[in-house]
Amino acid sequence: MAKFIQPPRGTRDLVGEEADLFIDLVNKFSEVARLNDFKPIITPTIEYFDLFAKKSGVEIIQSMYVFQDKAGRTIALRPEVTASVIRAYLRNLYKEPKPINLFYVAQCFRYDEPQRGRYREFWQLGLEIIGDESIAADINVLHTASEYLNYIGIKHFVQVGNVAFYRSFMDSMGVSSDDQDLVLHYIDKGLFNNAEKLVFEKYGEEASKVLRELYYTSIERLSELINDYRSLLRERCDKISQEAEKTLSFTDALKSIGINVEYSPPLVRGLAYYTGLIYEVKAEGLDLSVGGGGRYDGLTEVYGGPFEYSTGIALGLDRIMIMLKEKGYVVKTSPRVIVIALGSFTEIYREAINVSRALHSLGIVASVLSEQRVSKALSYASKKGYLYAVIIGKREIETQSVTIKDLIKGEQTSLHVSELVKYFKDALSP
Ligand code: AMP
Repeated sequence: MAKFIQPPRGTRDLVGEEADLFIDLVNKFSEVARLNDFKPIITPTIEYFDLFAKKSGVEIIQSMYVFQDKAGRTIALRPEVTASVIRAYLRNLYKEPKPINLFYVAQCFRYDEPQRGRYREFWQLGLEIIGDESIAADINVLHTASEYLNYIGIKHFVQVGNVAFYRSFMDSMGVSSDDQDLVLHYIDKGLFNNAEKLVFEKYGEEASKVLRELYYTSIERLSELINDYRSLLRERCDKISQEAEKTLSFTDALKSIGINVEYSPPLVRGLAYYTGLIYEVKAEGLDLSVGGGGRYDGLTEVYGGPFEYSTGIALGLDRIMIMLKEKGYVVKTSPRVIVIALGSFTEIYREAINVSRALHSLGIVASVLSEQRVSKALSYASKKGYLYAVIIGKREIETQSVTIKDLIKGEQTSLHVSELVKYFKDALSP
C-alpha cells in the first residue's frame, strides 16, 4: 500500500495551505499579466520530441521525458513552453497584428536530480512577446515579471547578459554552431575552463584568448574590445556594437524604472535558441534562479515559418512558493460560513442553497452541510474553522427564519430570512 501512495520521484502533491498558495500565486500572476495586456495561451503538455530537439540545447535534451506513443510517434513531455508558444503562434496567431503579448501557466518536466527547488515536474509562469524588435519588448517582459514579484513581496534583482557577443566572436573565429552551443553550455554550468579548453584545442590560442577576454569584460569596456578585434570581426562589428548599445540601454531603462539590474558576462543560459539579450531573475534568500529568459529572434524560422522577433521570460512557481512559505506568506481568504441543512426535506435543502447563494453575493464563502444532529454539525464547523453557522431546520422553514451561530463568540440569534443579508453585511464587512 505505502508503495502506491508515493508520487513519482521529483514530483509532489499539493494539498491544504500549499495548494491554496499555488492557486493564489497563479491568480495573481494572471491578474498582473492581464493588467499589462498579455493574453493567455494554453498549449499541450506533450509535444513531438522534434520540437525541442531542434533548438533546446544539450542539457534540456538530455533531461527530457521521451516516449513512443501507441502509434510509434516520438513524444516528449514539455521541458519548457517557449517552443510550444512559437509552434502555436505559427499555426494560429501569425496573422494577428504584432506585437503579440502572451502569458502562460504550465507544468514542465525535466529528468534532473531532485533537490531543493529542483523538481522533475515543476511549474512555469511565462510571458512572451512576438513581433517586436525593440528593447521595449524586453523591458515590458521584465517590468511585468518584476511587478508580479513585487506584488507578492519577493525582493529580486536581474542579471543581464547577451549571447550575441559570444556568438558573433565565435562565428568570426570559425567555431562551429555545435561547438558554440557546447561552449555556452559549459559557461552556463560555471565550467568556463572546459569552454576555454575546447576552443583552445579546436580553434587555437588566439580564439581562446578572445573568449577569455569576453568572459571578463564589463559592458563599458565592450566597445574597446570590439575596436581591438575590428579586423577579426569585420562585417560583424556593426551587429555586435548594436547589441552592446541595446544591452546598455536595456540595463539603463530597467534601472530607471526601479529594477535592480547588473550586467553579467558569465550569464549565458542553457537553452540554445537565445540570440541576443538574456536575463535571469534572482531573489533574496535563494541561490537558484527564480526566472530566466531572453531574445529568441528567428525561432519561428527553425520551425519553417517566416522570421519573427521574439522575447520572453519564465518564472519558476515552485521556487517562488519555497520563498514565500519561508517568509510566512499568508493567503488572504474570504470569511467562511457553513449552512447547516438540518433534516432531509426538499424545502430545507432549497432554503439552505438559497441562503448560501445570498452569502456568495456578498463575497462570503458558504457551503451547505446536511446533518441530522446540530451538535455534530457544529463540532465539524468549529474544527474546520468556520466563523458562522446558519442553521435551517423544520422550525426555521415554518417561521421563515434562520438561526445564526457565531462560532467564535458562541452567541446564537434568530432572524427573519429577509434580514440575513443585512446581518452578514454588518457582521463581516471589512
Ligand atoms: P529555464 O527554462 O531553464 O530558463 O528555467 C526558467 C525558470 O524555471 C528557472 O529560473 C526556475 O525558476 C524554473 N525551473 C527550471 N527548472 C526547474 C526545476 N527542475 N524545478 C523547479 N523549477 C525549475
